[in-house]
Amino acid sequence: MKKSASPTRRDRIPCMLADLKMPGALEELDPILQRVDSAQLTAGEAIETLLGAQITLRNNRRLQAAMRSSRLPAVKTLSDFDFTFQPSIRREQIESLHELGFIDRKENVVFLGPPGVGKTHLAIALAISAAQSGRRVYYGTLADLINSLEEAQAASRLQQRLKVLTHPSLLIVDEIGYLPISRTGAMLFFQLMSRRYEHASTVLTSNKSFEEWGDVLGDEVMAAALIDRLLHHCHIVNIRGNSYRVRNHSHLWKQADSEEDESNRRRRRRSLRPQEVAMD
Ligand code: ADP
Ligand code: MG
Repeated sequence: MKKSASPTRRDRIPCMLADLKMPGALEELDPILQRVDSAQLTAGEAIETLLGAQITLRNNRRLQAAMRSSRLPAVKTLSDFDFTFQPSIRREQIESLHELGFIDRKENVVFLGPPGVGKTHLAIALAISAAQSGRRVYYGTLADLINSLEEAQAASRLQQRLKVLTHPSLLIVDEIGYLPISRTGAMLFFQLMSRRYEHASTVLTSNKSFEEWGDVLGDEVMAAALIDRLLHHCHIVNIRGNSYRVRNHSHLWKQADSEEDESNRRRRRRSLRPQEVAMD
């Protein structure tokens, strides 16, 4: 900006930002104008920086609200994730999921892999991106979600609870396969997933391959019907690698590697290979 704004205009801008309820932009206005005056910023850059400050504040507020209502257990973001540690993950696939088109298309995402490889981290990171974009998100482990459905059923409020859990644009179902679940629990979960099918996206994580979900849910037929719906519109991220939790204990990796080889051998022997049904 060659000619700096007149003092009256400079007085009006903060009033306009306050009137528009843009405290993030207001806060940054003076330093931005100083950089314009000293020719460090062009007019275009100044407008972009000002609006960017407001968007950052709005996204942080959305995130704080989402942290209260969504039950997300931690803040984990894509920028905290070290892709070099987990070369089996295609970075472009994860980055493209963060553009959130899958939520608009009501597609699902499944993170599969052994403990500690970042399934929960990546699931939460997607929920955080979705929350920052203003979408409603909800997080639960499979055990938590089933508990809440069983409690609702006991109190004759199952329909309301199913409605509440069907509502969010993104539901995270974490830790499928860690804890055994009852048959009733599995049926309730199946009902929930049937309601969400083609209605809203779900991100699921599991340490068990799909062939083992029959054992997890205690019913092969129900598991097959669930997987069928889930995979109809689905992105699968199959993580093969070492646990990040024990990254400083390399002597454990050898053991993890040999377990991984065995599980790969088992997977090859089975017919349903998750990576082959990935849509993207
Ligand atoms: P999983 O759900 O697969 O068992 P988590 O997502 O809980 O694993 O990861 C375990 C811990 O390690 C978490 O604190 C997570 O933030 C961290 N972590 C895992 N993988 C990575 C990575 N590639 N880069 C940075 N942190 C990671
Ligand atoms: Mg986890």
